[in-house]
Amino acid sequence: MHWQAIKKTPKSFRVTPHLLDYEETCAHFSWETIGRELNGLPGGKGLNIAHEAVDRHANTHLAHHPALRWLGPDGTVLEYTYTDLQQQSNRFANVLRQLGVGKGDTVFVFADRIPALYFAALGSLKNGSIFCPLFSAFGPEPVYQRLQRGHAKVLVTTTQIFQQKVEQLRERLPQLQHILLIDASDDLGEGHWSLPQKMMVASEDFTIEATDPEDPALLHFTSGTTGMPKGALHVHKAVFTHYATGKFVLDFHPDDIFWCTADPGWVTGMAYGIIAPLVAGITCIIDSEPFNAERWYKILEREQVSIWYTSPTAIRRLMRLDIQPRRLYDLRHLRAVHSVGEPLNPEAVIWGQDALGTAIHDNWWQTETGGIMIANYLAMEIRPGSMGRPLPGIQAAVIRRQKDHSLEVITEDNVEGELALQKGWPSMFRAYVDEDTRYRKCFVDQWYLTGDIVRRDGDGYFWFVGRADDIIKTAGHMVSPFEVESTLMAHPAVAEAGVIGKPDVLLGELVKAFVALKPGTVADDQLRLELIGFTRRRLGPAVAPREIEFQNQLPKNRAGKIMRRLLKDRELGMPEGDFSTMETENE
Ligand code: AMP
Repeated sequence: MHWQAIKKTPKSFRVTPHLLDYEETCAHFSWETIGRELNGLPGGKGLNIAHEAVDRHANTHLAHHPALRWLGPDGTVLEYTYTDLQQQSNRFANVLRQLGVGKGDTVFVFADRIPALYFAALGSLKNGSIFCPLFSAFGPEPVYQRLQRGHAKVLVTTTQIFQQKVEQLRERLPQLQHILLIDASDDLGEGHWSLPQKMMVASEDFTIEATDPEDPALLHFTSGTTGMPKGALHVHKAVFTHYATGKFVLDFHPDDIFWCTADPGWVTGMAYGIIAPLVAGITCIIDSEPFNAERWYKILEREQVSIWYTSPTAIRRLMRLDIQPRRLYDLRHLRAVHSVGEPLNPEAVIWGQDALGTAIHDNWWQTETGGIMIANYLAMEIRPGSMGRPLPGIQAAVIRRQKDHSLEVITEDNVEGELALQKGWPSMFRAYVDEDTRYRKCFVDQWYLTGDIVRRDGDGYFWFVGRADDIIKTAGHMVSPFEVESTLMAHPAVAEAGVIGKPDVLLGELVKAFVALKPGTVADDQLRLELIGFTRRRLGPAVAPREIEFQNQLPKNRAGKIMRRLLKDRELGMPEGDFSTMETENE
């Protein structure tokens, strides 16, 4: 089906967008200019994300401007101004310093979206430590993998989460020295501290560590297809991208109220749920609760959200309800809606126009890129189904990998190939922690290879086609089939497991496992339920398979590797192709 482009005219803008003419903005763009719009640390002591996000505003007319507005489960609203945020993050940084946690040490937070998470993130950055948030729905196994691979020295969490998911891992994590418990009123000894106690006695003043733009700042784990999660490391200079995309893509203006629905446990929730809006000096809404259509529409209305950043899965959930939100809710403040994380169906783009009063603007990026790289801009025509055009300052190409490992850049329009980005942009990941070979394999010549298959049309719009590897995207979350297979294999009844993403109208893909059982085991519904429960307890509900199918034997190649692609083709009723060349290069 052909979808009509959505044209923009100056009349369609309530506020003049920062990017009005794409070609002209690209022609005049330079990262040096972006750098000049930021501050840098006082006294020329380098660059620090938390200074750009908080302290520089706390010293201006924005000192008493709301920075974060937190919406609690029972109607509680807590508001923090830029000055409040400065003081709270200073206190947290002092807590770290007092514990002997310093530059380059890794601080993890494993918690729901509660204010302490935000203070810890900013305080860790001020201290020059590396901050790594964990998604609170993870089970113990993904948490262990990440804490261990990220060399966690400090973990900030709640007593309940600690007891349920971390305590059992402690012996396997000798590097983890300090547990800061958000809700403990007293220290518990042996490195288990009460965070409120420590915050209470810590000073509100803190001089930010001298940090170089290239010093590590943020760690985010992402999934591979053949190994355990990879820790993508970002540096303080990533703030250039956060700022530039806040300006040109999300289009922040001084009085905006911005709501990013992503959890900080995923890269979007960190870069755009915390950093980018604060760097822009606007007000950021944080909802403590999971998706709930009525609650969400009420938030848009009551908080007068003007810019909204959400995901295709959430939009599809809203679309299913078949209500006309603008008849029931006052959404007149909403001037832009953006979406990321998985393909956005063209009908969703159009639905936004009628239902929300603005088309939905899709954009593309990934953990490794650290910020939005391809986008639909407010002033530019939208081609429903397209991810848009590269951010000014970003060179994107469609490439083909050759057998001799060199690259061919495809110059023809509308030809499918792998999306590559010219390396060197500020928020490009600088390492996979302790996995240099894996990191170097992502680059060929001057290109970073994304692992996504796309095509580019004659006007430079990029269209997503699929992943080049077996990574699963479920509800916008990356899941490694390998991680799920390894967990299934830990069950005594399982001989072999192959895991795929099965297309799903709501989630994009759902995690489906094919399992071959050990001889003598009965394949019945009871065992199926047991395996689902087994994986949910270890991996958490966001990662565990939703469907399990028993098979006598799983298809394997000559090297004995389970052929997930073949399992998927069979699942989809597709013809079985030639799999002899099937390899995942990035792994
Ligand atoms: P993550 O690293 O978890 O943020 O996932 C990044 C991956 O999500 C990309 O490599 C894509 O496969 C997918 N993705 C992100 N944004 C989009 C989009 N707008 N359209 C299609 N796929 C997307």
